[in-house]
Amino acid sequence: MPALPRDWPLRLTRNTCLFEQLSQGRLFSSAGNFSSLSTLVTFNPKPFYLGRVFGIPIYAHYSWLPVFPFYAWAIASGLLPRQAPGLSVLQYWTLGVLTTMLLFVSVLVHELAHATMARAEGLGTGNITLYMFGGLASLNGQPAQPSSEFKIAVVGPAASFLIGTIFFLADEAFLRGTGHRAIGQVLRHLGVINWFLAGFNILPGLPLDGGRVLRALLWHYNKNFRTSTQIAIRSGLMIAITLVALGIAYFLFVDWVMGMWMMAVGLMVGLMLGTTEGRSRGVWRVKRGTVEDVMNRDVVQIPPEMKITDFINKVLNNNHHTSFPVVQERRLYGMLLLDELKQVPREDWSRLEARDVMRPVDGSMFINSSTPIPEAKSILSNSELGRAVVLDSNGLIVGYVSLRDISRATLGTRKP
Ligand SMILES: [Zn+2]
Repeated sequence: MPALPRDWPLRLTRNTCLFEQLSQGRLFSSAGNFSSLSTLVTFNPKPFYLGRVFGIPIYAHYSWLPVFPFYAWAIASGLLPRQAPGLSVLQYWTLGVLTTMLLFVSVLVHELAHATMARAEGLGTGNITLYMFGGLASLNGQPAQPSSEFKIAVVGPAASFLIGTIFFLADEAFLRGTGHRAIGQVLRHLGVINWFLAGFNILPGLPLDGGRVLRALLWHYNKNFRTSTQIAIRSGLMIAITLVALGIAYFLFVDWVMGMWMMAVGLMVGLMLGTTEGRSRGVWRVKRGTVEDVMNRDVVQIPPEMKITDFINKVLNNNHHTSFPVVQERRLYGMLLLDELKQVPREDWSRLEARDVMRPVDGSMFINSSTPIPEAKSILSNSELGRAVVLDSNGLIVGYVSLRDISRATLGTRKP
């Protein structure tokens, strides 16, 4: 394998939940990537390092600093004195802080579930960052097959459901009818929160985990990632509209706080999807005019050691592209080209690996995301492949762009 610099082109796809996106002010693209909403991320100090869990670095974003005392306060002076009167202020606050810590642990476990499943599926995880009310596991790739995407997406809500159940059972088993009413309340509260996280995230529409599950199922049957994404986006839009409508009904007739909350979440989901749709329709592209605006964010990456047989059965069968970046440990090693693969005799498929057949990496294979479209057009026109992996300013792989993407965008037509 060719030796390359440490920070060689890499690709980051982020796998997130709604809370993470709300708290970061970022947008979830149809592919599961992020694109910053520039107006909301002007203040964005670097997350700080907490430690490693299962070898995955865990970071905390500064946004949780104000949330932590606020949440502890809400528990210590709102929920507990009301539901379990008679304790001292110190006791309430101790439980308030403990509840908040367990909330963060709950969210971390949800993200670790995504991350460990991604690792089991051969994708690996860059790191996990904890934001206000959520975490963010950055995966080193978009799953290449529906079964991987399904498993990675479903384990998050499954983990939250399981943790919630454990909290409820702990309360039932140990604390019911005892004098520890306040601790019981804490456990029940954490049970409710985790069940809520599970139930909400599994709703079948992007940008939620359930949307990825839905997309994986559709993708499995129709073999078309892009069509499946579009359907999962529309489903997300229906969920957003339903949430807003229910929110209005709740606001008027049931509980105005709950109603406001549902409306806010519904609007955010709708806004995120509106922007995703807008992007995929090319609305913003021509105006801003860089590679980032026209690139395709769904890059399927191939590990160098993947057998050609596996590539054909698992990857090619589910992804109708003509070229695939070969990536490992965040480095781009080369490009697997279908035209060149066709030259390989069939009897060698089970013996050869992607690295044996790929074209090794060279400068014509990537392009910077900030390159203006006219310049990109001339670069790609002059390159043999007519397409390139897109890198951000840190050299991370963020997308894939072809001449076709550019002409679609400049014509303002919608992608099929
Ligand atoms: Zn999740």
